[in-house]
Amino acid sequence: MIFAASFLILHWYLSLFCQSFYLHRYISHKQVKLSPFWDGFFLILTIIAQGPSFLRPEHYKKLHGRHHAYSDSEKDPHSPVMSGSVIRMMKKTYDEYMSINDSNERFPRIVAVGDSVVTRTFFVLSYIALYLAFTDSFWFLLLVPIHSMLGPIHGAIVNWCGHKYGYQNHQLTDNSKNTLLIDFLMMGELYQNNHHANSQKLNFADNSFEIDFTYVLLRALRRLRIVAYE
Ligand SMILES: [Zn+2]
Ligand SMILES: [Zn+2]
Repeated sequence: MIFAASFLILHWYLSLFCQSFYLHRYISHKQVKLSPFWDGFFLILTIIAQGPSFLRPEHYKKLHGRHHAYSDSEKDPHSPVMSGSVIRMMKKTYDEYMSINDSNERFPRIVAVGDSVVTRTFFVLSYIALYLAFTDSFWFLLLVPIHSMLGPIHGAIVNWCGHKYGYQNHQLTDNSKNTLLIDFLMMGELYQNNHHANSQKLNFADNSFEIDFTYVLLRALRRLRIVAYE
């Protein structure tokens, strides 16, 4: 039980941090700078953390660019306003992701390894092996699909809740909201209204009562000279 809880919590937040920091803030918005070494390091960490649901960085960037450009309109790849259910919203996101075929990755070989069926299968089998080795009940295997789908699960929570529930600090033309109450699960990503109002601002929190945990970690990484930003 302790193993299952620790593994799930650790995996959840590592995968989330990689998506929020590397794919979203670094790749998509270029809010921070990384040396080629740390760029490659965080790409590999993203592959390890997202495992079977690894999202190709340039695909993510294209999809996310459309989300900002067409937020909550017909052309938004994942708007709860335009979708009747989370499943339908994620199906549209998946279809758009899969339709992208021109992808100029900076580390094409590493991305190809992360994106391969062999690698994705290896991660699923690893989760099964870990639960079989460190827990005493087969019921824990029910957690394997969650570990295997962390990328889309995080995306679904952010895209659905962040454009449906919460309050607005900024009057915008889209439906973005700040879902503060459950943001501790999403490390700053649920301050969607703040982020849409000022998409180049690294700290997604705008008020003193809002905390963007990814930004807090990035401040520490800057002190360690791993990331740079103004
Ligand atoms: Zn949004
Ligand atoms: Zn964004």
